[in-house]
Amino acid sequence: MATIIKNATIVTGGPERTVLYDASLVVDDGKITAVGPSDRIDVNLPEAEVIDGRGKAIFPGLVNCHTHMLATADRGILEDFGFPTTLRFPTTGRGLLSVEERNVFALLAAAEAIRNGNTCLLEISNNITDYAESLASTGLRLALTENVNDFDDAEARRGVYRFLDTKREAGLQCNADLIEAWDGKANGRVMGFAAAHAPENCSPELLRQVREMAEQYDVGYTIHLSQSNIEIEAVMRTRGVRPTQYLFANDFLGERLIVAHCRYVDDSEIALLGQAGVAVSNNSAIAARRGSAAPVKELVAAGCTIGMGSDNMAEDMVEVMRAGLFHERVRRNDEMDPQPEDVLEWATIGGARALGIADRIGSLEVGKQADLFIVDLRRVHLVPTLRVVSAFVHNGQQPDITDVMVDSQWLMRDSRLTTIDEDQVISAAEQAGHAAWRRLVDENPDVPFPIRLPPGPLL
Ligand SMILES: [Zn+2]
Repeated sequence: MATIIKNATIVTGGPERTVLYDASLVVDDGKITAVGPSDRIDVNLPEAEVIDGRGKAIFPGLVNCHTHMLATADRGILEDFGFPTTLRFPTTGRGLLSVEERNVFALLAAAEAIRNGNTCLLEISNNITDYAESLASTGLRLALTENVNDFDDAEARRGVYRFLDTKREAGLQCNADLIEAWDGKANGRVMGFAAAHAPENCSPELLRQVREMAEQYDVGYTIHLSQSNIEIEAVMRTRGVRPTQYLFANDFLGERLIVAHCRYVDDSEIALLGQAGVAVSNNSAIAARRGSAAPVKELVAAGCTIGMGSDNMAEDMVEVMRAGLFHERVRRNDEMDPQPEDVLEWATIGGARALGIADRIGSLEVGKQADLFIVDLRRVHLVPTLRVVSAFVHNGQQPDITDVMVDSQWLMRDSRLTTIDEDQVISAAEQAGHAAWRRLVDENPDVPFPIRLPPGPLL
């Protein structure tokens, strides 16, 4: 069905960063067919749903270039004990979930994502086919990939990096099966992707095959890069070079690649990433929680595309934008750079470029698919509305987002989710999260745990 939103403020997110006032946006057959001043938009769509956008701002949907949705099961714990975690458990609560519970947390994360204005996510996980159907049913635009590595985990815990052909072959097969099953599905809303996990746990052979897979299927590929000092130390010790140099030496860097994090890259690594035209997912909120920051200004100057990601335990891209702005100003020691419009660009069209779909989403322009969110500007923290992008990036909160549309379908309308039974998901996630962490603690009585869990679910 066609939709016309009239009399709204429209943050187009186009190359001129135009904000239109008293403007209309027309969606027909999945695409944006008109954007402009209300008095100049003349459409003949008698069946269309007409929405009065007075007092509202329409933004392009936020694109999350790096997330692990099931990590919401570890929320409230793993934010505070470093990476890799200093908690000495053999797994986390997330690792103990049943298939049914994995579906619950996928939906919990999807609900959080929608409420935060996300319209597109790159989900990186294992055995995603367990919950891909649930994710697709939410209406979100998705890129899905398995997180493939081929190292021997048990040996690596002793500091020895040994690589296993059987593990590599099984992981790659799983990723290929995922792409075959899901790429282009749900009216093109779901895309396949490929992933090597991280430089220290991937052999040169795996790197080569992941890139080949991406090219063979014409999809993007991704890797964690410069995420931890342990990674850098391990790659220096086993490969004799820094992580980005290891990827470069094995012909892994390319324009289809999204590298996540880049917290500790040095100048030579930044230059390599820029020369190859790599996209970087700046996961600013989790980086801040880990006490680090990506050198965004230098990466941009070198030629990298910047997207943003939430990574672990949250799907809050509003927070990610704000953290990204704060971080970069502190890091640059500059009170004016970046501006909120820069950060919004990273989180929208930048992410779309990183995913290779900037011709379809990332801004509100004629011909693009209708992925957007609506902000109610009638809020104590958003007025006066002198610069809506600045007001929202600096002060916006999740409940300000009242409506979310993907591919012309409303995923949230008047603050109610339309594709997810939110109450049911919250109850089930509360039960499953407590049960998983309680089991982990009970099964590992010798592991010191600095947290006292509540006696049981609080809901
Ligand atoms: Zn990650």
